[in-house]
Amino acid sequence: MADLKKIDKSYIAGTYNRFPVVITGGSGSEVYDDKGKRYIDMGSGIGVTAFGISDETWVEAVTAQLGKVQHMSNLYYTEPCARLAQMLCKKTGMKKVFFANSGAEANECAIKVARKYASDKKGAEYFTIITLKNSFHGRTLTTLAATGQEHYHELFQPLTPGFVSVDAGDFEGLKAAALFHKAAAVMMECVQGEGGVIAMDPDFVRRVADFCKKEDIILIIDEVQTGNGRTGKMYAYMHYGIQPDVVSTAKGLGGGLPIGAVLLSAKVENVLGFGDHGSTFGGNPVACAGAISIVERLTPAFLKNVEKKSDYVFSALSDCPGVESVSGLGLMIGIKTARPAGEVVKACMERGVLCLTAKDKVRLLPALNIPMKVLKEAVSVLKAVISEGAV
Ligand SMILES: *Cc1c(COP(=O)(O)O)cnc(C)c1O
Repeated sequence: MADLKKIDKSYIAGTYNRFPVVITGGSGSEVYDDKGKRYIDMGSGIGVTAFGISDETWVEAVTAQLGKVQHMSNLYYTEPCARLAQMLCKKTGMKKVFFANSGAEANECAIKVARKYASDKKGAEYFTIITLKNSFHGRTLTTLAATGQEHYHELFQPLTPGFVSVDAGDFEGLKAAALFHKAAAVMMECVQGEGGVIAMDPDFVRRVADFCKKEDIILIIDEVQTGNGRTGKMYAYMHYGIQPDVVSTAKGLGGGLPIGAVLLSAKVENVLGFGDHGSTFGGNPVACAGAISIVERLTPAFLKNVEKKSDYVFSALSDCPGVESVSGLGLMIGIKTARPAGEVVKACMERGVLCLTAKDKVRLLPALNIPMKVLKEAVSVLKAVISEGAV
């Protein structure tokens, strides 16, 4: 451990502040460190390992594909990406899919689609993307520009122009900005994840969707974190009764391998033509085979269970001393605690539960299939830690 820590510090760029824990293995929602200590994983690699660590079905799907062909470039057909795209379209009513390798890349593609649609249809001056304050859309220069949090911007000027952020919930403000700036698109998360696990107001989301439809402005929903069953529905927008034009997703889609996807509705399915966009690794057969094994298990019955577990966590925490509020949707949960969130996470880790933070909140993103028994164990540790010292 000491040695590894030293090598890591010497040779890895200093962008991450790691906890002093080396994870060496695990199974499902339980992981082990190099000393054999067990932890319950309530973070899933930031919502990535949707069915837990080394999930058997996922491992089988991935290894079977590894034994066939691991990569072939997009010059040729391979089966997993076509099957996965078909599956995603059948589950959403979307028409076409572009595969990327991360959330930021999926968002880059979504933005390119919106800009091309608007400039083809309305003129080159329709390029602005309206986003929300406190949003998070990624770390590339363009998705940073989309991210409505100034502190991410400061050190990297100039960012890609053509992004304007408005307050979440302020429909009139959004409308005015969109009209004034000749917006190509509105882009938002239904539940702001990095921003503190904040679900958008349903009335606001519906008004934005109606407005975009009326003005022929592309509505991009960023489902990178909220997607693929995380909130108890296949995609979080389905809670809101809206139909986005473009959906971007990543994180949990691959179950642990890098993959991003952009789902295109009928309106924009043919906006990207030959040569307009591409990705060497996009649609990688191994990543797609893993993703198929995830997506095919997101059945209505399974998602009901996600909601059941969510209800349990919300109700178990809501009357816990030291909890000021519980926010989020499904198994994407933010907890505002009297104790500083960082302190709660540290104390939970000592007691064998790995949690995340988001802004000033403790954030939980457990595997969607976390067994109820394990979930209860984690919640009881969380409650004990949160209520310590609380009146
Ligand atoms: C994590 C996240 C991203 C960025 O995804 P990467 O895979 O890290 O590029 C974009 N949007 C949202 C909502 C996210 O939560």
